[in-house]
Amino acid sequence: MNKKTYFFQSEIKQLLNLMINSLYSNKEIFLRELISNSSDAINKLKFYYLSLKNKKDIILDTNYHIRIYTEKNSLIISDNGIGMTENEIIDNLGTIAKSGTKNFIKNLDSISNKNINSDIIGQFGVGFYSSFMVSDKVIVHSRSVKENNINNSVLWISDGHGKYTVYKKSKDSIGTDIILYIKESCKEFLNESKICDIIIKYSNHINIPIEYKLFNNKKKDFLWKKINVAEALWTKNKLEISKKEYKDFYYSLTNNLGNPIAWSHNKVEGKNEYISLLYIPDISPWNIWNRDEYKNGIKLYVCRVFVMEGIKKIIPFYLRFIQGIIDVNFLSLNISREILQDDIFINKLKISITNRILKILNNLSINKNKYNIFWKEFGNVLKEGLAEDELNRYKITLLLRFCSTYYDNEKKYVSLEEYINRMYHGQDKIYYIVSDNYISAINSPHLEIYKKKNIEVLLMFNRIDEWMMMYLLDFKGIKFFSINKNNEGINNIITLNNSKFLDINKNIFVNLVNSIKLTLGEFIKDVKLTDKLENFPVVLTTSSSEMSTQMSKLLSSVGKKVPNIKYIFEINIKHILIKYINNIKDKNLLKKWINYLYYQALLIETNSLDNPVEFINLSNKLISKLIIK
Ligand code: ADP
Ligand code: MG
Repeated sequence: MNKKTYFFQSEIKQLLNLMINSLYSNKEIFLRELISNSSDAINKLKFYYLSLKNKKDIILDTNYHIRIYTEKNSLIISDNGIGMTENEIIDNLGTIAKSGTKNFIKNLDSISNKNINSDIIGQFGVGFYSSFMVSDKVIVHSRSVKENNINNSVLWISDGHGKYTVYKKSKDSIGTDIILYIKESCKEFLNESKICDIIIKYSNHINIPIEYKLFNNKKKDFLWKKINVAEALWTKNKLEISKKEYKDFYYSLTNNLGNPIAWSHNKVEGKNEYISLLYIPDISPWNIWNRDEYKNGIKLYVCRVFVMEGIKKIIPFYLRFIQGIIDVNFLSLNISREILQDDIFINKLKISITNRILKILNNLSINKNKYNIFWKEFGNVLKEGLAEDELNRYKITLLLRFCSTYYDNEKKYVSLEEYINRMYHGQDKIYYIVSDNYISAINSPHLEIYKKKNIEVLLMFNRIDEWMMMYLLDFKGIKFFSINKNNEGINNIITLNNSKFLDINKNIFVNLVNSIKLTLGEFIKDVKLTDKLENFPVVLTTSSSEMSTQMSKLLSSVGKKVPNIKYIFEINIKHILIKYINNIKDKNLLKKWINYLYYQALLIETNSLDNPVEFINLSNKLISKLIIK
């Protein structure tokens, strides 16, 4: 016997340490992980066999199964799948190739090591290594179909403390046995009913029988009893599937990612047949915003055999929150990712799946409560579709929801359809404001005149919104207009009581306007008198040729150099402060007041100042001066 001992890769050591010390309460997922590995191994063997030229070369036990049993203090998971050669076992169980596991390790730093109570292990599915949560020692005994020789079988053994040992040990049949020496504190996992419960909970729909060894009293012997339904749910008739079955299938598919809010199960007949079962979840996967590494939740099957998951080509990226399966009959089993990229059937499939999903969402939107759950969680993802999917832009536009001034101080959503139905007589634009957050949006001075005149304004405050608006130019022919911009057009729809007001007062403020221009000089584009403000003395607007505040923020947040925005400084000539400073003769003092007003307008418009202390000092000085007076 030639024993060789190896050290685990350092990342794996870290992972194992965590598994061994973990207080994670949901330890039972180890069984789900091992069963899914066994099921993968069996599917791999089916592939392998199909792709063999000389099938007669190997005699296979095609009675595929995963068998689970206990022996003293150990739990054994045994499969007749593809097995592993010595090299494969070292590669697969000693190093990390998987990006999911790597990510998990990267995220460890932010989690307190010993107290993982979130579902983080469950979400990442750290696979084989989770067996060390419940075991003192793990043995893997495997015989590969590729080196199909009783003596080539290999045994891997480790207690999870940094090292593992590998040596040859004969094994009767092709496949893998995983032997777990269950920890004293985890004895429950040797209990028959507990094991069967876990199997049903997580692995019910795996289309390979999972059998448990039971003692049969009548026959006075052990029997293998099938525990799972071992059937692909989606192949059953819709009418025969209960809500609970659909939900359970969702849970097993997604490792319990929240709950499904809606689903759609369809069979498309014809030459290129396929079945799809698509779900809308109520919660995002943790990494949905990680554009490079996120994989969508669609599993592709070919004639009931699992092929691949997370294939980018199969659904558009902006629908990446969808979970489900697609089972097609028109692809070959050993199709590669590269071929999939160019497959015209896959392209057709994508179009048809996209339409289906947009239809599910459209149906869901009738139910406001449910749709709100969806919108809160995935609205910002869906918005990407306006840029990504020009063809479906209108359909996506119908699905958009916005906060609005229609609901005073309440974060309720409205659709564009609702907005245009409520439009002011003669109103020819859809008004919106973009700000950093809901509070700054709803309290913005820009809104005052619109509120006063009862004109609804949509409130946008998500990072993506300003960018989205580049693609959303109109709805049913009605143009969008940002009220952060200087808006002369508003005069056409709101006849102000005394429209000559500004003209009459022009002369009274001419000196002030000049002083402001002199003081702020390069920082601003222009100074204008306004009577559209109520409570605010000043406001900054952008001219239509200028980049908007939010766009400039968006660009600088991704490291782009953007020039400072030159705003139009609008002063409210009805405001007491403006009237007051109009009479200040002391040039120095006037300068201070102008700066003070400029800073406050800048703070409101951009939500931050480069030098807040300067602003506060200035304010304090001016107030003190007034008190002393
Ligand atoms: P994953 O299954 O996501 O790849 P795991 O940590 O669960 O990650 O397993 C690592 C690898 O070990 C698998 O990809 C597979 O190659 C191999 N493996 C694990 N269990 C088995 C098994 N029962 N039969 C064959 N290979 C297996
Ligand atoms: Mg696995």
